[in-house]
Amino acid sequence: MDSDILVVGAGPAGLGFAHSMSGSGLKVTLLERQSRDALQHPGFDGRDIALTQLSVRILEGLGVWNRISADEKHSVLGAKVLNGNSSYSLDIGSGEEVLGYLVSNHVIRRALFQGLDDLPDVELIADSTVTGVEHTAKTVGVELAGGRTLTAKLLVAADSRFSDTRRMLGIAADMHDFGRVCIVCRMDHEKPHDGTAYECFHYGRTLAVLPLSPRASSIVVTASSNERDWLMGISDEQFASDVEDRFGSRYGRMRLATERFAYPLVGVHAKQLCGARCALVGDAAVGMHPVTAHGYNLGLSGADTLAQEIRSANARREDIGNFGVLKRYEQKHLRNTRPMYHGTNGLVKFFTDDRHAARLARHVALRIANNVPPVKQLIRNKLTEQSNRSGLF
Ligand SMILES: Cc1cc2nc3c(=O)[nH]c(=O)nc-3n(C[C@H](O)[C@H](O)[C@H](O)COP(=O)(O)OP(=O)(O)OC[C@H]3O[C@@H](n4cnc5c(N)ncnc54)[C@H](O)[C@@H]3O)c2cc1C
Repeated sequence: MDSDILVVGAGPAGLGFAHSMSGSGLKVTLLERQSRDALQHPGFDGRDIALTQLSVRILEGLGVWNRISADEKHSVLGAKVLNGNSSYSLDIGSGEEVLGYLVSNHVIRRALFQGLDDLPDVELIADSTVTGVEHTAKTVGVELAGGRTLTAKLLVAADSRFSDTRRMLGIAADMHDFGRVCIVCRMDHEKPHDGTAYECFHYGRTLAVLPLSPRASSIVVTASSNERDWLMGISDEQFASDVEDRFGSRYGRMRLATERFAYPLVGVHAKQLCGARCALVGDAAVGMHPVTAHGYNLGLSGADTLAQEIRSANARREDIGNFGVLKRYEQKHLRNTRPMYHGTNGLVKFFTDDRHAARLARHVALRIANNVPPVKQLIRNKLTEQSNRSGLF
């Protein structure tokens, strides 16, 4: 056997899982189709990830949080949700306490990758694409492009929401194409923000403005897929003035600070999170709509849960590929992912339904959420993951 655990995909979830397993006495091999150089120097991809307090605690425990410099971690002190053109908002947070942090996706990836040097029990094989999977009673094997094969006791798929490994393992997934696109970038603005994240559900489009350094924000525009070409094709100045207008010029003049990146919005939930000698983590298990910012938070907590189950099984001298061990991970993680996935999809539907009755219902819902303390507390807990496992917006 080449390894104890083979992990397909060295994205933030696969890397996070490898960190969580280190020191367990088990050998982990990470297989990644990108080059080592690309992993070492990931470029800005437009995504600023809202990390909950639970995710920060996990990253601290892995020794990764300290690898991210203070000027790359941006505190979120409050969140406001607005409906249509109304100035009424659902307000979360007092403005003094940190609800979570925004950290750029490439910064998280870089910090996780740098940490690999300190993990002698984790091997990375870059430039390797997994093209096949094979089982025996006691092992699971993968075939790499080029013909090389590797075997282990357990295979963990962390190869994105469109996971080929999941398909090769015969695990089905529910996929929901929202028919919408998410355009992300950074913008500078004239007036400073006060650490508040805005989620504006305008008619037809939504706009999130998330606080970075005092005069810079991360911008997330979701629009119908047929608006994509227009939004990506207009000049930087036109785009900036469109965002500024839709944001009601709250921060004064706005200017595009980076290029724009477009992501198609497709939600994915695997029907099973484990199978014979295999488990799914990260987006391969659950790929979320970004509006509630749960995707990587769930990926990180799921990887942590799986690692804990494997560590305990190994300490009991159980076979780590045993279905019962993997099933315990599935049961625990599903308790978080199912309500989050379906809740987020329902929320997107509710807030993007532009019929008159739905607009009115949203006004009522925001007022109830603002004025009924247990409802507000529940939303706050779900956003921050202070009291349970679950994103920020
Ligand atoms: C616009 C946007 C905003 C977001 N904002 C937030 C947020 O605020 N908060 C949050 O928690 N989440 C957010 N997310 C979600 C978050 O980005 C994802 O959940 C996270 O990046 C998924 O990580 P992953 O490692 O599972 O997958 P990926 O990042 O997709 O990594 C998969 C890796 O597998 C490799 N790979 C694929 N196939 C193979 C193969 N066959 N063989 C070998 N390697 C392979 C790929 O090269 C890649 O490196 C956002 C997503 C988007 C699109």
